[in-house]
Amino acid sequence: MRAVDIVIKKRDGHELTADEIHFFIDGYTRGEIPDYQAAAWLMAVMLRGMTSRETAELTLAMARSGQTLDLHDIAPLVVDKHSSGGVGDKVSLVVAPLVASSGLPVGKMSGRGLGFSGGTIDKLESIRGYRVNLSVDEFRAQLQQIGIVLSGQSMDLAPADGKLYALRDLTGTVPSLPLIASSIMSKKIAAGADAIVLDVKVGRGAFMKTVDEARALAETMVGIGRNVGRRCVALLSDMNQPLGCAVGNALEVKEAIDTLHGKGPADFREHCLTASAHMLCLGHKADSVKAGEKLAAQLLDSGQAWTKFVALVHAQGGDVEVIENPSLLPKARLVKDVPAPGGGYIAAMDAAEIGMTSAELGAGRAKKGDPIDYAVGLLVHRKVGDCVSAGEPLFTIHADDEAKLAAAETRLVAAVEWSNAPVQPLPLFYGVVE
Ligand code: URA
Repeated sequence: MRAVDIVIKKRDGHELTADEIHFFIDGYTRGEIPDYQAAAWLMAVMLRGMTSRETAELTLAMARSGQTLDLHDIAPLVVDKHSSGGVGDKVSLVVAPLVASSGLPVGKMSGRGLGFSGGTIDKLESIRGYRVNLSVDEFRAQLQQIGIVLSGQSMDLAPADGKLYALRDLTGTVPSLPLIASSIMSKKIAAGADAIVLDVKVGRGAFMKTVDEARALAETMVGIGRNVGRRCVALLSDMNQPLGCAVGNALEVKEAIDTLHGKGPADFREHCLTASAHMLCLGHKADSVKAGEKLAAQLLDSGQAWTKFVALVHAQGGDVEVIENPSLLPKARLVKDVPAPGGGYIAAMDAAEIGMTSAELGAGRAKKGDPIDYAVGLLVHRKVGDCVSAGEPLFTIHADDEAKLAAAETRLVAAVEWSNAPVQPLPLFYGVVE
């Protein structure tokens, strides 16, 4: 078998066999197939798509490209969550400790920023000392000791996804249903979770632009989960505007900390409570979503979720002083408000543009392995449906460079659409796929 023939077969729109998919994924993982052939293959998949059989085989090939964890000797039921990627999506930072504080073990392997969307691992690294590269043994030991792990993609687990994920970010091959479904589900299968809440984002700041596309992705992932004996629920959630206010690594950590203290933006808190409620239901801690939301609010407001977050940061080598005093998080040199150019109702926001603006300020990467600036990003003060007066602050930019700040200002003003007539606020969720 030759890698080039597999690229050509997919380029010409044919269905790949299980052997071809496994050959390609195994060869790429071992370094025998180079990045340029993998990039061409990713583009062919992106343009030609995959059948559900191919997507399932790709998921299994990626999940089996490294070690797979069986956690049943340390926890009878491990829950996990994963987002398909959005702007200002710092949900895992709140939901993981919240659910773990109920006594349900949460072992989570997260990713880095991808395109305009941020990544939990980049956010956590803005906490001085926080280690994201845990070995499998460390992952297991920590899950057993404190019931929570938030680690990066260990090279031992689904290494094929680790390599492909970084390559996709730089080759314009992120927004592909089979590539997203297999990327997410391979990690989840390899990391050993029994029950998974999938947060599938829909809209301008998501890889899936319509509810129908998001539903198709959700159904694919839930179906893959079912076939390998994992219980999954997918939430279809809005990403037409950033979630919460903060976009950018340290700014998002600060907002997550506020939320864990019972404060934080209302939309973000509500989103976290709903996602947590579904995890608590899957983990048999609540018998309805409503009861799960009530329990989640108690865990948040009593400080138990915060205590678990502190334990997590401590266990992974992070400086607890930084989270107890968030003014010690990385800070940008330049901070500037962007006023509303005129008055009216906000009709729409281009969340992808807002995410790209944050990435260009330095919060994201232009190419594989680039360093990022944890301090930079922006705050979104007003949302779709809000009535805003001319001159009111719409955004606050945190930058390290005058030229980038000026470019961000122009871009953010252009990312907002206005209406003279009242506009309905956006819903947080569009549905659930079980
Ligand atoms: N999150 C992932 O883990 N993979 C993707 O492809 C997109 C979001």
